[in-house]
Amino acid sequence: MSPGAGNPALSGLPPEEMAALLAPLPAYRARQIRSWISRGAGTFDDMTDLPLSLRAELGKRFTLYAGEVSAGLRDPDGTVKLGITLSDGYCVEAVLLTDGEGRRTACLSTQAGCPMGCVFCKTGALGFHRNLDSSEIASQFFRLREIEGDIANIVFMGMGEPLLNLGELRRAVAALTGGGADFSPRRITVSTSGVVPGIRDLAENGPRLRLALSLTTADEELRRRLMPVTAANPLPAVKEALRRYQERAGRRVTLEMVLLGGINTRPQDAEALAEFARGLDAAVNLIPWNPVEGMRFEGRPLREPDAGEIARLRSRLEKLGLTVTRRFRKGRAIGGACGQLGTLAGGADQALQSRTPVTPQGRPRRVTGQ
Ligand code: SAH
Ligand code: SF4
Repeated sequence: MSPGAGNPALSGLPPEEMAALLAPLPAYRARQIRSWISRGAGTFDDMTDLPLSLRAELGKRFTLYAGEVSAGLRDPDGTVKLGITLSDGYCVEAVLLTDGEGRRTACLSTQAGCPMGCVFCKTGALGFHRNLDSSEIASQFFRLREIEGDIANIVFMGMGEPLLNLGELRRAVAALTGGGADFSPRRITVSTSGVVPGIRDLAENGPRLRLALSLTTADEELRRRLMPVTAANPLPAVKEALRRYQERAGRRVTLEMVLLGGINTRPQDAEALAEFARGLDAAVNLIPWNPVEGMRFEGRPLREPDAGEIARLRSRLEKLGLTVTRRFRKGRAIGGACGQLGTLAGGADQALQSRTPVTPQGRPRRVTGQ
């Protein structure tokens, strides 16, 4: 563990909190430090316009980033997955995806494990350990950027249910948008399994991020069996909350449909989805289920949907007037695709040996003095 682990990590603090924590240092010092973080400083020693004595003092009281990168895997398709071990030993995962045009998207975790228990999701099978704090959330972004370079988008689609950790999510977003990275909220998406109080809170109190709902199926009875969250958050209430969010934030929402072979790809799933989407400004994103070994639904092993099944569902949805996109399958060889996160949680070393390790390509925004 590095010296200073367990001390507050400055990179994950909203600007005003960072300034308050650094008091009685003058405000311009906090600004200098934020500027170094946004340029990719790795340590306080990189901050060459701070007096040496101050750098040493800061190093004793604070860290820059939370957790240690304990594993890194690179998929042949370019996807990178990092395992980050937190100060109490839990491991969370962060993934970087690159699209056809070379734009990078960071997929960040908000909890260690997840309490929601969706039957098709590896993270759900791990159970819940704890919420991450804002530094543990934001630091995943900085670690990915250090390895790969500029990042265009952030999606909170890693481990955990972001809206059950909304306070820390907000602070992390404030740090990323207002301090360490100057990221635009328009390029940040939060994905929820459908936690109604969280969607309402976000609608009322912001920030105005892009919102995605992991709908999976709009057949309420089937959804209850696949996603236990449905019992306390019935779909009509979820829809009403989405409508409210849309009114407030003025944003199109994404309905994410993990396709489970032979389960939620039926004609009635297409019809129920069209009914759910009516009155919403929504786009549908089809995500063929990524295999997770040993996952079963009511006694039967889950399977991937076949090509014909996906094509039929897609054309039904389009005929019903829906806008449909299909997510790339990225990172499957390293367990870094949607719903596969959790493989590093118990065996980082073994995972590193058996796959291609990440070779850092140098710090992208080289720290260059002034
Ligand atoms: N907990 C939040 C965000 C993380 S899950 C949520 O559920 O929205 C991110 C996405 O991965 C969700 O859309 C989820 O439905 C999807 N997912 C989970 N397991 C999957 C799997 N095995 N294959 C493909 N997608 C999966
Ligand atoms: Fe949790 Fe999302 Fe996985 Fe469901 S799909 S168990 S909410 S991480």
